[in-house]
Amino acid sequence: MSEFYICLTFDVDAESSQVRENAEPVSISKGQFAINKGIPRILSLLEKYDIQSSFFTCGWVAETYPETIKEILGKGHEIAAHGYLHEHLDKLPLAEEKEVHLKTNKILEDLTGKIKGFRAPYWKISENTLKIIKELDYIYDSSLMDDDQPYILSIPDVAGSLVEFPVQWYIDDWIMFETHQYAPYLVLEIWKSQLDSYIKINEESNRLSVFNLTCHPSCIGHAYRLKVLEDLISYIKSNEYEFTKMENLATIIMKNIEDIE
Ligand SMILES: [Zn+2]
Repeated sequence: MSEFYICLTFDVDAESSQVRENAEPVSISKGQFAINKGIPRILSLLEKYDIQSSFFTCGWVAETYPETIKEILGKGHEIAAHGYLHEHLDKLPLAEEKEVHLKTNKILEDLTGKIKGFRAPYWKISENTLKIIKELDYIYDSSLMDDDQPYILSIPDVAGSLVEFPVQWYIDDWIMFETHQYAPYLVLEIWKSQLDSYIKINEESNRLSVFNLTCHPSCIGHAYRLKVLEDLISYIKSNEYEFTKMENLATIIMKNIEDIE
């Protein structure tokens, strides 16, 4: 069995997409739940179990709620990039998309220091996205779905590479609780069975493996849903698997490659 890690990741969208779409006030307030209730509860939960996580956020969110972002960072978590206003990057022309990434990078780095990772809003990218984030010196991406374990991703016409932490729609709180409104006991069973299958893959492989769970504070932050996450954390802790930030794993994976080369 090779190394196996758990990455609990949180996409801090807040009300960014609703603002971009000029949504009505109730829809905006649904996003604001992330800042008002979701993040404080998540930070308490992670502190209780001594877990460090990666939080992907938008440039607009960091501009609007700098204290929240600084608090997340201050608790030992990672801040990574997630667009400026939660754009559909696949719909943007090159110059406009570049502006989104550069602007977001500057806002986040001014507030929190060096940014190392990126996750695409809606998990949609253009043919330019990975090239742009590599040029910004990010070391990893977490947007693609072509594998279930991290791997080294080469980008045509760009020197060096990125670590890719693949995502899946089925390991995501939004699908479970918002799209399907599954009962909590069912979500816990689904996540535990997914985790068990990843552990099995890891036992049969010689690759570093990761269970990469995506959550949204405006979704998982509701009390009955957070209880499911806590039960999952207890299950993982009872099996003594290690939680970590993606930036740490990306550094380990990059170093392993350099050692081999
Ligand atoms: Zn998002």
